[in-house]
Amino acid sequence: MASTLNPVKRHREHCRHVRALMSDYLDGELPPPDTRTVKRHVRWCPNCRRMLKNLTDTVRALHALGLDPTTTDGPGA
Ligand SMILES: [Zn+2]
Repeated sequence: MASTLNPVKRHREHCRHVRALMSDYLDGELPPPDTRTVKRHVRWCPNCRRMLKNLTDTVRALHALGLDPTTTDGPGA
């Protein structure tokens, strides 16, 4: 069954898996095995590599502005 699966479809499913890991990857909260999965995948997948770069740039820009999207605790909490 699995051997008849279209390789493009398998690739797309792997992309979806990797993209779901990306935000934790950028937060540095991903376990080492998952970190390796992301790094290995973006090495040969241009689409995910571009997406990771965009996410990285976005997170960096937010940090540069002093807006940390992962921090929800305000001084008045
Ligand atoms: Zn991909």
